[in-house]
Amino acid sequence: MRIDVLTIFPDVIEGFAAASLLGRAQRDGLVDLRVHDPRDATSDVHRSVDDAPYGGGAGMVLTAEPIFRSVVAHDPPRPVVLLSPTGRRFDQAVAQDMARLDGFTLLCGRYEGVDDRVRRHLCDDAVSVGDYVLAGGEVAALVVLEAVTRLLPGVMGNEQSAGDESFSGGLLEYPQFTRPASLEGHEVPDVLRSGDHARIARWRRAQSLYRTLAWRPDLLPGGVDGLAPEDRRLLEEFPPDDPDVAGPEPGDGPS
Ligand code: SAM
Repeated sequence: MRIDVLTIFPDVIEGFAAASLLGRAQRDGLVDLRVHDPRDATSDVHRSVDDAPYGGGAGMVLTAEPIFRSVVAHDPPRPVVLLSPTGRRFDQAVAQDMARLDGFTLLCGRYEGVDDRVRRHLCDDAVSVGDYVLAGGEVAALVVLEAVTRLLPGVMGNEQSAGDESFSGGLLEYPQFTRPASLEGHEVPDVLRSGDHARIARWRRAQSLYRTLAWRPDLLPGGVDGLAPEDRRLLEEFPPDDPDVAGPEPGDGPS
């Protein structure tokens, strides 16, 4: 998959890529990451990429021309996706859709944002990584890059992992434990050490349901009553493992 990133801070993207799963995916030929700096497409001596906003107001705005020129010069893959707090919400379903593409391009804003002609006439999509405002699109681009590329076949060691995870099946993931089995009196649930894989799978699904009902009820808007009969039976078969999940109060969540 080819992924291009347009940013005035290329080192942020390249540095992260080199130190992460993405670096290995590049070395293995699974991801072709190309980072472009719109400053390289400027024509003035200061390599300016920002200017004051028309209409007045605080801060500066990234200018459209170097971004358009950079796209013409590098012909990056479509869709071109602007990182923006005004974009549609990026979530696991969007990550899964993007992982099916042959490639895409991420465009990072800075300052007060990007001349809107870029979004209107150059970009195909705009995504937001959450309802908060970052100083620039680089961290948001890294969120998208990592969430998408770890879904590509061969990028993660264990192909099973992505299918089981939070959000993939509409639920939060079940609790995970590793050695030691006993830690200062806190025991790993017996069922996980039983070797009974069918029972472990049922227990895990029950715990996923409990967690989701308690911590992310928005993912199960029908509540317990909206669950399939086999899921309701699982809740009868297994109690919640985590005391935090037994009696959720507003604001409760994983600590
Ligand atoms: N003035 C803009 C507004 O109120 O919508 C915010 C600009 S923000 C300081 C600068 C850049 O950071 C944006 O152009 C965008 O690329 C990036 N950014 C900030 N928050 C983001 C978010 N939640 N999701 C994606 N990108 C974001």
